[in-house]
Amino acid sequence: MELESLYQEVILDHYKNPHNKGLAPEKDIQVHHVNPSCGDEITLNLTLRNGDVSSVTWDGVGCSISQASSSIMSELVTGKPVAQAMQTLENFSELMASKGTQSGDEEVLEDAVALAGVSKFPARVKCALLGWMAFKDAVVQVNGREEDQT
Ligand code: ZN
Repeated sequence: MELESLYQEVILDHYKNPHNKGLAPEKDIQVHHVNPSCGDEITLNLTLRNGDVSSVTWDGVGCSISQASSSIMSELVTGKPVAQAMQTLENFSELMASKGTQSGDEEVLEDAVALAGVSKFPARVKCALLGWMAFKDAVVQVNGREEDQT
């Protein structure tokens, strides 16, 4: 099977059977992000525990890329130390900024390498990054809140 069509399968599979979709009632924070250029929307609930990403659940509407990418992101960061999750996010952001010149590190990005081809289409990069930026925003807000308390 061609790599491109294999990647299509991965994206379609996450789109049809999204992981961690449906908002968990308990959360540290909820964020809502939109991608006006495509009409994608995401609401994301984040829970951190002892420096780990305890739970990421989300709900949203939008194109297959935004939905699949949010599903992949939620799977990749859940259960990881926050620092490692942010590293993965940086790695994915670099891939999306590569304009098709990078194929992505599968060791780090796992299913997210299937989105590598999206980096050739600047208009779609925002779709792929929507869920990831929502996650980043949520982490920053929770950490900021903790710093306020000390
Ligand atoms: Zn989109």
